[in-house]
Amino acid sequence: METNRHRLILIPPPFQGHLTPMLQLATILHSKGFSITVAHAHFNSPDPSNHPNFSFLPLFYGLSHTHISSKNVVDITATLNTKCVSPIKELLIDQSEKASINHEKIACVIYDGLLYSVDGVARELEIPSMVLRTTSATNFLSYHVFVQRQSSGCLPLQDSMSLDLVPELEPLRFKDLLMFDSSAVMQQQIAKTLTVRPSLGVICNTVDFLEKESLNRLHQVYKVNFFPIGPLHMIAEEDSSRSSFVEEEYSCIGWLNNQPTKSVLYVSLGSIASWEEKELTEVAWGLANSKQKFLWVIRPGTIYDVSEWFESLPKDVRMAIGERGCIVKWAPQGEVLAHQAVGGFWSHCGWNSTLESLCEGVPIMCQPHFGDQRVNARLLSHVWKVGLEWSDIMERDEIERAVRRLMVNQEGKEMGQRAFKLKNQIKLAVQGGSSYDAFNGLVKSILSVNL
Ligand code: UDP
Repeated sequence: METNRHRLILIPPPFQGHLTPMLQLATILHSKGFSITVAHAHFNSPDPSNHPNFSFLPLFYGLSHTHISSKNVVDITATLNTKCVSPIKELLIDQSEKASINHEKIACVIYDGLLYSVDGVARELEIPSMVLRTTSATNFLSYHVFVQRQSSGCLPLQDSMSLDLVPELEPLRFKDLLMFDSSAVMQQQIAKTLTVRPSLGVICNTVDFLEKESLNRLHQVYKVNFFPIGPLHMIAEEDSSRSSFVEEEYSCIGWLNNQPTKSVLYVSLGSIASWEEKELTEVAWGLANSKQKFLWVIRPGTIYDVSEWFESLPKDVRMAIGERGCIVKWAPQGEVLAHQAVGGFWSHCGWNSTLESLCEGVPIMCQPHFGDQRVNARLLSHVWKVGLEWSDIMERDEIERAVRRLMVNQEGKEMGQRAFKLKNQIKLAVQGGSSYDAFNGLVKSILSVNL
C-alpha cells in the first residue's frame, strides 16, 4: 500500500536524549514513504536544515528558554504536560484539516513517553497513536512493579531496604528504582505514564534479546503491542550529530587517530548530569594518576570557566592531561565510540549512551546520576556483564582504581570480550532479525488502521 499519503506527527520533548531518538525514528519511517511532521518545543529545537525531508512546527508552551539540569528536569516535564495540551490539540486539528485539503491523512501521532498528556488529546480527536519510550523496557516495567507494590500496601520504602533486591525485578535493588527516592511530582508523573494506552502500541528503543523478559511482562500487563525496534541510531544509520544542541568538536577525532588501539577512556555524562567543581578536580587527578589516555567531555555550563579551572590545577596534573588527555565541550559521540582507539566509556548510563556503547562493543565504567540511569547501570553490570560497578566515591584514588580496573585489568578485558559479542548479536537483530521484524510490524500496524 502507498504510504506517501500518510502523514505522521511526531512530538518529542526538548531534551537531547529524547529528541535524538525521535528524529532517528522519523528517519526510518520516512524511508518507508511516510510524510513526517515534527512538532517540537520552541527551545532546544532541531535544526530543520539537517532534516530537509521533514516539516517542523514549533509549539509555544509558554516556557521561556530553559537550561535543563538534573535539578529542574522533573518540574519542566510536569509543566510541559500541563501546557502542551491546548497547543497540541490545536496543532492536530489544524494539521488534520490541511492534510485532507492535500489528500493526505494523519495516519498516527507518535509522542514521547514523557509527554503522557498527549494520549488524551489523540484519543479525543480519534487519531491513532503510539508512544515512543526512549528508556529501557526494564525501567518502564519497574514503574509498574512499584505502583503495584504501592497498591498492595508493600510500600513505603525505607532507607534500610536500599540494597535489598526487588523480588520481581532481580537483580535490581530498591535503590536502583527511579521511584526509590523520588519526589511527589515525580511519583505523579509515573502514575500518569502508566495510564497511557496508545491505540497502536508502544515503540521501544531496545533490542528484544537484551530485555526479553521485561518486554514479555510489559506486554502481558498492558495488553497493547510493544515494538522493540532499536537501537534506533543503528537502524537509522545516523548518530546523534544531526540533532545535537551543542556543536561537536571534531578535533578530538584527529587526536584519537594518533592513539593506540583501545587505549583511550571516553568520559561523558551526557546532556544533563554533571559533576561539581570539586568533583571535576578529583576526576582530573584520578585520570592523570591512572596513567591512561582519556577523552573528556566537559559541557558548557558545567563549570563557570573551564580554562580558568584547568589553569588552577597543579602543573603535574595539567602536564599529564596535556600528554594523555583531550578535553572537549561536546564530542561526536557516535564516531568516538566507533573509533578503534576507544577501549572504555566512563558514562552516566543514559539509555542512548548505553545503546551506543553496546553497539560499538565498548565496556562501561558506570556512574549513574538520576532517573533511569541506575537501572541501566545495573543491567550493564549484572545482566549483560559489560559494565563496571565501582564505589562511586568521587575521590582521586578510587577513580584511579576504577579506571585501571576497566582499562588495564583482566576484569575490564573480559567485559570488553562480552561487549564485542553483544555488538555482533545486536547487528544480527538489526539486519533481518528481531528489530527488523518489529519495525516492519510497526509499519503494518499503522497502515492497517488507515486503509
Ligand atoms: N552526546 C554527544 N556528545 C557528547 C555527549 C553526548 O553527542 O559529548 C549524545 C549521545 O551520543 C547521546 C545523547 O547525547 O545520544 C545523550 O543521551 P543519553 O540518553 O545518553 O543521556 P541524557 O543526555 O539524556 O542524560
